[in-house]
Amino acid sequence: MFSEGAVAVVTGGSRGIGRAVAVDLAAHGVHVVVNYSRSEDKAKEVVAQIEAEGGSASTAQADVTDEAAVHEMFRALRSEHGRLDVLVTSAGVTRDRHLIAMSADMFRETLDINMFGTFLVCREAMRIMQHQQRGSIVAISSTSGLDGGFPGQTNYVASKGAIISFSKTLAAEAAPHNVRVNAVAPGFVETDMTRAIPLKIRSGYESRIRLGRMGRPEEIANLVTFLASEKASYITGTVVVANGGGLA
Ligand code: NAP
Repeated sequence: MFSEGAVAVVTGGSRGIGRAVAVDLAAHGVHVVVNYSRSEDKAKEVVAQIEAEGGSASTAQADVTDEAAVHEMFRALRSEHGRLDVLVTSAGVTRDRHLIAMSADMFRETLDINMFGTFLVCREAMRIMQHQQRGSIVAISSTSGLDGGFPGQTNYVASKGAIISFSKTLAAEAAPHNVRVNAVAPGFVETDMTRAIPLKIRSGYESRIRLGRMGRPEEIANLVTFLASEKASYITGTVVVANGGGLA
């Protein structure tokens, strides 16, 4: 599915969906750079798991909103590996509050991490991939970015909707350089992010999912790996939904 010696960066690879993506890409022979912001121990755990399973990985600390740190992460990657085949942008946060009670900082921080951070890492990746004339980017959006409608998440859905239009537009810029860009829109997935939703609200959504359960991070990772791989060589500029059939 990937060429010999392929290298990937997974932002937010320390936990949740990013972690599952890192493990799955490594299982397909890709060296994975596991990016994290604060969870150094978790990122090291991911690397240890990958190595125990016979794969290859390393950690890279960088807050995706920090332009200098992001630049340094890619500079180090270029000097160590000299190539970048795959970028998966999974770093993301929620800061839920109804709009009238939402501080400007909560709104700005969510856009900053989810959207601006995606811009920064994609720009660095594109500089390498355009030079190589090869590469694949998968941005993790959300079904809420397509459908909206979740009270308390105006900031989050705005960021996730922006990721979709950003990815489609970057795909158009990148296509002449043989670089593909796609977005994945998961529904409810069992991670720390959804565990933070009050139980009553979470159970209410869960009972409405057509497949009758939340998704597992590995189920999103399967899709991401496919889109990132050469098996998806004719797919770019699209958004693929994985949401258990959505809410009834
Ligand atoms: P999670 O378990 O809370 O993990 C979030 C990840 O993002 C962590 O690895 C975290 O790293 C990283 N991160 C946060 N802020 C960062 C920053 N400033 N710089 C670098 N990394 C940062 O969340 P998740 O559920 O796996 O979500 C992953 C992605 O999927 C997000 O973009 C989310 O919006 C999207 N998504 C999730 C769901 C769902 O139901 N879970 C549904 C749709 C879309 P540290 O631990 O180091 O902070």
